[in-house]
Amino acid sequence: MILVFLVYPAKIFYRIAQGINNKKGQRIVIKSQNKNSYTCNSPLLPYHQRLYGMTIQEDYDLLLEKSKKIIIYQMIQAQLGWDFETYMPSKGGQQRSMQFATLAKDVHKLSTDPEIGNLIQKIKDDPEYSSFSKIQNRNLYLIQRDYDRETKLPVDLVEEIARHQVIAIETWKKAKAAKDYEIFKPELKKALDLQKKRAHYLNPDKHPYDVLLDIYEPNMTSATITKLFNELKDGLVPLIKKIQSAPNQPDTSFLTRTCPTPIQEELATDLSNVVHYDLERGRIDTTEHPFTTGYYQDVRITTHYYENEFDNALFSTMHEAGHAIYEQNLDEKFMYQPLGQAASLGLHESQSRFFENIIGRSPEFWEYYMPKFKELTGDIFVDIEDKAFLHAINHVKPSKIRVTSDEVTYSLHVIIRFEIERDLSEGKITVEELPSIWNQKYKEYLGVDIEDDSEGVMQDTHWAAGLFGYFPTYALGNIYNAHMLHVIRKEMPNYDDLVRKGEIKPILDWLTKKVHQPASLYDPADLMERITNVPINTKYFIDYCVKKYSQLYGF
Ligand code: ZN
Repeated sequence: MILVFLVYPAKIFYRIAQGINNKKGQRIVIKSQNKNSYTCNSPLLPYHQRLYGMTIQEDYDLLLEKSKKIIIYQMIQAQLGWDFETYMPSKGGQQRSMQFATLAKDVHKLSTDPEIGNLIQKIKDDPEYSSFSKIQNRNLYLIQRDYDRETKLPVDLVEEIARHQVIAIETWKKAKAAKDYEIFKPELKKALDLQKKRAHYLNPDKHPYDVLLDIYEPNMTSATITKLFNELKDGLVPLIKKIQSAPNQPDTSFLTRTCPTPIQEELATDLSNVVHYDLERGRIDTTEHPFTTGYYQDVRITTHYYENEFDNALFSTMHEAGHAIYEQNLDEKFMYQPLGQAASLGLHESQSRFFENIIGRSPEFWEYYMPKFKELTGDIFVDIEDKAFLHAINHVKPSKIRVTSDEVTYSLHVIIRFEIERDLSEGKITVEELPSIWNQKYKEYLGVDIEDDSEGVMQDTHWAAGLFGYFPTYALGNIYNAHMLHVIRKEMPNYDDLVRKGEIKPILDWLTKKVHQPASLYDPADLMERITNVPINTKYFIDYCVKKYSQLYGF
């Protein structure tokens, strides 16, 4: 008898269709009560088979198949998103939004399938559960975590958040253009209230900000980040003052020389090859804001070529290639499994910044790459000395805008947003006070005067999009990657020489083994501790900055 379980993937369906032999070798026919449950007519089978006709392993396999289907749907969403940002015809928006909406609905249905909850419970109730491996347990934990997140929220709230996100982003755009925070304020307040509500539903016993943080950086807490960021602030603020008052300031004028797009494209491809971003499993296209999307065998990046800012595409390519390398080097055996994904946004950012800054802006790398750079750019930069070039691409200048800031000041932009988010979530400050608090912090930490709110509190889209708890991951990336560099130098004493020779492969192999391959087997803090043998701390990033920039600026 063949049963039709259209909701189940072919492999599982095939196994069920074969029937199961009981201990006496009799053929047990499994009947379906409905498409989401199983019954079995043999009293001789163990508990879980009697009830459901499945062994614990089959339950687990079925759970993984369900999860795999969600992952594949998400890959399709991501690919359509990539096309939307790159090559979709300008009038294709309406059709695309129908595709997005249909997929989103299907993914929601798959992710909230009650059978997932039932299977998790069945597995946990089974006496054989205690013999589950570390990998099986981790997959189960991640499936449960995502399932809880999807099912704990009332549908009304999910819809309200989605609806409000569109309104808030539109209002933010108008308010930013009009340089008028008053227009944005009510929508920002509502976005924050909705996120607080969301946090409460997800976990009423936990600090709401920690609940939100957990979505982007699993099990990270606001207390830990406060400690780390305070240390970072204490180390970076005086360093920036020293850099600013140093007599040896770079001449950055050559950075605006015209560098034609085809040359920049060649540079982007060449640098991708140097850092081993596999272009047979990836590609480089252009978008207004560079991004990376994909998984294992198809990971694409985008960049932006400005003819009078060649360094923009050069470093954004290195940055996105770092993200892509992480995805390309996840352990193949975890593909399509819940744990077959990057451990967190902070770790992702650590990899992008490792290639962009730690390698890409290092003196050792430019010892290797300068001849190639000059060869590819012809006579455009022929008169620029190596030292002057290196200093200019490492120019530190406190600014108002986060996305264009340098390696040293970047973290302070992030710290400001974190402190505001944390204090808002605790009710210590109000949405009304935001512009004045923002401006005061920019003055205090970066010495910058904010003249209007469009270049101040309204510069990023994150809050309009309801992304509270996301910002800290940007600066955690810096903390993580400097930490990794410290360990790499210890374990690979010839690290600098390798970079000087452009031999990135052994370094990449180290990162792959320690960071990429474990995928989501551990929470980010645990993974970092396994790599470094000490709890996360800011010392290495501060030391790295002090050493690098005191040499460049001569103090
Ligand atoms: Zn990034």
